[in-house]
Amino acid sequence: MSKIKLMDKSLRDMIAAGEVVERPASVVKELLENSIDAGSTSITVEIQNGGRTLIRITDNGCGIAREDVTLAFTSHATSKISTESDLDSIATLGFRGEALSSIASVSRVAMLTKTADEQFGTSVNLEGGEIIEIEDAGCPNGTTIIVRDIFFNTPARMKFLKSDLAESNAVAGIVDKLALSHPEISFKFIRDNKTALQTSGDGKLKSAVMSLYGRELADNLIEVDYSYNGLKISGLISKPIASRKSRSMQNFFLNGRYIKTKTGYAALDEGYKNSIMVGRYPSCFLNISMPHDMVDVNVHPAKTEVRFVNESTVFDAVRFAVKTALGKGDSRPTMQINHKDKNLLRKAEPEFSPMLQQRINDAIFKENKSADNRTSLSPNLPIRETPAKVEIEKIAETIIIENKEIEDIIPTAKPQPPMTAEPDEMATHRELYRRESDEEIKPNLPPKPEEIPIFVDSPTEHKAVKIIGEAFDTYILAEYGKDLMLIDKHAAHERLIFEKLKKGNIDDSGVQILLDPIRINLPKDEYNAVVENRELFCEAGLEVDDFGDGTVILRSIPSMLLKEDAEDTVVEIAARILNNKKEITTEKLDWIYHSISCRSAVKGGDKSNIDELAEIAKMALEEDIRYCPHGRPIAIILTKAEIEREFGRIQ
Ligand code: ADP
Ligand code: MG
Repeated sequence: MSKIKLMDKSLRDMIAAGEVVERPASVVKELLENSIDAGSTSITVEIQNGGRTLIRITDNGCGIAREDVTLAFTSHATSKISTESDLDSIATLGFRGEALSSIASVSRVAMLTKTADEQFGTSVNLEGGEIIEIEDAGCPNGTTIIVRDIFFNTPARMKFLKSDLAESNAVAGIVDKLALSHPEISFKFIRDNKTALQTSGDGKLKSAVMSLYGRELADNLIEVDYSYNGLKISGLISKPIASRKSRSMQNFFLNGRYIKTKTGYAALDEGYKNSIMVGRYPSCFLNISMPHDMVDVNVHPAKTEVRFVNESTVFDAVRFAVKTALGKGDSRPTMQINHKDKNLLRKAEPEFSPMLQQRINDAIFKENKSADNRTSLSPNLPIRETPAKVEIEKIAETIIIENKEIEDIIPTAKPQPPMTAEPDEMATHRELYRRESDEEIKPNLPPKPEEIPIFVDSPTEHKAVKIIGEAFDTYILAEYGKDLMLIDKHAAHERLIFEKLKKGNIDDSGVQILLDPIRINLPKDEYNAVVENRELFCEAGLEVDDFGDGTVILRSIPSMLLKEDAEDTVVEIAARILNNKKEITTEKLDWIYHSISCRSAVKGGDKSNIDELAEIAKMALEEDIRYCPHGRPIAIILTKAEIEREFGRIQ
């Protein structure tokens, strides 16, 4: 080995650059953080070829005074901290004082900068970290920095760059995160001469989300604003209905700095627990504000990981914030009637010859009777092409030909009288209706008056649930205050049982000791999973004993579970535990409850009596319970107003 020598400056900087400057995206991140720290209100990022050939960042921040410019490019030079104690309370995004020097050491940098106090700005050019030129320049207040030919002097590192597309996507990701963490700054991102993003900088997080991800997500967000033990959690979370397949839209910020936080992700999951479908993930844009001395941001060179002094407080704050927001901000899904096609008919109907009127009526009946075709009532689904619909459209065309003045009629859209038809026409329609679908028209009879304990207990008279019937042996129809509610009886019942099990009400609802215990043979792995988690099974009322050799004995089951379903339930739980060995105990226990409640609940299509329906419909009164354990909605609402609008009673 050769003699130990001190490295010269440029070698030191190059090695330091390895930590900070990994790829164009990391350069953009450091430079944007500098622009933000400089108090800018408007920042433009421009890249060419994924940032390999050019990165240009222009801001309107405080600028760097002429006498500080050289120092800014020296390593460990920073204006942001000066004493060791400052490290305990870092309020700026940057503080390590090595970004500019590191970037300059592996590229060609040009900077134009001017403070408000100076008459002239400074232009400086560096190559491989050495200043080659520094002079006066006429320029606006703020800083423009141009980084060209990144890694031109470190070819080994250049080789690790991915395709231009991959690099520029990585840059876009960074710009997105910073734009989200600073909605008060207007960001513009230009990618190979095309504007890829522009945020308004109006200070509203929702506007930033909309610029980045579009209206659909922005419209499905709930505000979060929650204080807990000196922490403030604020921002936006997605409604459970707008969940995604991955965590990629889970954004956390700490005092305005984008961070990756396992504590945050776990707390978010906990907050959404039982509100979201298994395997789906919520989106969030949440800022955690806390005193700077409660967190160490100096644990990672890229500063994306942080260490909280008190993890569990952060966990609880996020969890409670999410739960509270979901309770307030989410509501039951509401159906919207598709007005477009209906209006066509309503407006058209009174003006036509008897023959045409007849065709319209026929078409309406045809459209209405095909059961799989009731799309005009389904939430947001487009009406499908059906023979009846094609017919309606043909008629509409005829109408326009037959009555040239139709254009004049449409805009007035006065309230129309109910559709009338001659008695004999009606008879024909009824005939037709009956002939073609005798079974379908059998009305789903409401319960007989004497069997109706219809008002389920209600906290307020106004919000009573009054059961009026059941459709398709699956959906309970109920008046709910001023709305019409459809309750999915399986989903609601499943949740009802789940809640009971969770509350440990297993004793109330009873455990059934099996006089004739069930022997269950299992494959080796599943057998082990059951034996190892025996206590969890017992806690949920499934008392299992190890019988050795791949066999367990099931001695008791929760009484809501049918005996014939018991074996399948145990097998299902065993498989699930096996596939997710690392999960925590409470999660496993929840699965056991899920399986039991899903198996025990009435199924869609099962016959139920009115008392059972009333019991299930009670779930609708639990305002904050809206989803079954798998995350499907328990009930959807059609508002009275919507119905009345549709019947032309109100405009
Ligand atoms: P750090 O951000 O950790 O302090 P940098 O190397 O990124 O270190 O920047 C060094 C210094 O240069 C900063 O402390 C700041 O004073 C100044 N600086 C860098 N970029 C800008 C900018 N866009 N506007 C104003 N000042 C800047
Ligand atoms: Mg910096």
